[in-house]
Amino acid sequence: MTKAFQIIASDGPPLGLFVNAKKCELIRHSSESNTACADLPGVPVIIGNWSILGSPIGDTVFCSSFVENAVLRKTEDSVMRCLLLDDPQLAYSLIRKCVGFCQGVFISRSCPSQHSREMLAASDRVVATAFEKIACLHPTALQWQQATLSTSRGGLGLRSSATHAPAAYFASVKACAEADGWDPYLAEGFDYAVEEIRTLTNRPHWGLDGTFQESSQHEVSAAIDDRQFDSLLTASTTSDRARLNSCAAQGVASAWLTAVPSPHLGTALTPACFVAALKLYLGAPVCSAAPCPFCGKLMDIYGYHSLTCKSYYTMTRRHDNLRNIFFSFCEMGRLLPKREPLIPTKQLDHKKRLVRDTNTRGDILLLSTGTRPCAIDFAVTSPLQPLFIDGAALGTGYAAQQYAVDVKEKKYAAEFGKQGIDFKPMVFETFGAICIKGKELIQFVSRSVASCRNLSVSVVTQRINAQLSCCLMRYNAHAILERDPPPAAAD
Ligand SMILES: [Zn+2]
Repeated sequence: MTKAFQIIASDGPPLGLFVNAKKCELIRHSSESNTACADLPGVPVIIGNWSILGSPIGDTVFCSSFVENAVLRKTEDSVMRCLLLDDPQLAYSLIRKCVGFCQGVFISRSCPSQHSREMLAASDRVVATAFEKIACLHPTALQWQQATLSTSRGGLGLRSSATHAPAAYFASVKACAEADGWDPYLAEGFDYAVEEIRTLTNRPHWGLDGTFQESSQHEVSAAIDDRQFDSLLTASTTSDRARLNSCAAQGVASAWLTAVPSPHLGTALTPACFVAALKLYLGAPVCSAAPCPFCGKLMDIYGYHSLTCKSYYTMTRRHDNLRNIFFSFCEMGRLLPKREPLIPTKQLDHKKRLVRDTNTRGDILLLSTGTRPCAIDFAVTSPLQPLFIDGAALGTGYAAQQYAVDVKEKKYAAEFGKQGIDFKPMVFETFGAICIKGKELIQFVSRSVASCRNLSVSVVTQRINAQLSCCLMRYNAHAILERDPPPAAAD
């Protein structure tokens, strides 16, 4: 090093190259090095703790204080600003997308997790406190565990940067070691990260044979989330499992959480609606156990009655608005939709035990489908109703699928078929899971809209999911709010 420096210092000036010693740094990673410190005149020597490109390198105290400034303080500052917006949906969206987790896992890619875990855990607590303010709720341990899951697993996406730090560090070290051909176990804290991942994913033998299966950061983090979701299901009651499975259905179920809040796009929720929807999604109490003002039955505090009460046209409004959103996308896709068409059918009159000719009012009839016209019928069902709850507790979308097949298809498919019309049910669960044919319909309409509007299919699918999801949650929240007595007026 000294020789190289001397060559530059002596041979450089005739070529117009001058050493600026103050701008150089000699970094010695350990003060216990055997060789004497090179004598480079005017060059600052850094021993032990230093940072490069925003990453700390050094002992735990140094790295921890670096992470404190780079992550914890910034999280505190950003969270405080988000809360100043006084809009829970906006504050939540910004915190989920931009605060805490992303900064935490970014620094974790270059900082061993044993150095960062304390400050990352503190940063996670800041996010948790912010959520309590946003949702006006002090969540139970299980509710918070759900909130920290990714939205595709029924969570609110407020993922823990401390929990996912080992995944980030492991994947980054392994990729570097592979690129440059060195042993990843030579990196500081690599074995510690591997041990942590084994515990978090319940895979004690992972990597013991020298190869790591599914080892990208995304895959390791997904395995950690899967394990957390499984342990949450194990610790939950039957009705909570039915709710969690429905929330974890992806697509429409999580789109209200990932949508950009926009009145223009139909994805903005009022503060009261957003807060009620959050509580409903987490299975927290949402209303009082008082008699329903519209039907007189006793309500439960978790909103089951509110969401399934047939009085006051609550369910009709939810149904009609979902249908109208889908109808406008069918129009955009030039599928020639007709709203509420009358389709001649034969229906069984249960009282007289007679079959009679009648006109059935469908929700939407698509006249242009490439094949036969297609009638679509909308419905919303609850995975918590006694008929479905046991099946819904075992798997995602059970209630929607059973309702679609046992009720809707049985009632209409054969009769409509005789008229040369295909029938597709579009059944939603109250938490957003939908039936198989409903998913296929969304894909079909997305493709048509995408080619008519020169957009990608995935962008259109996201838009349809977001609008349907926000509509579903908005009217779920209305069902609760309109049954809960307003707060007493202040004197
Ligand atoms: Zn009622």
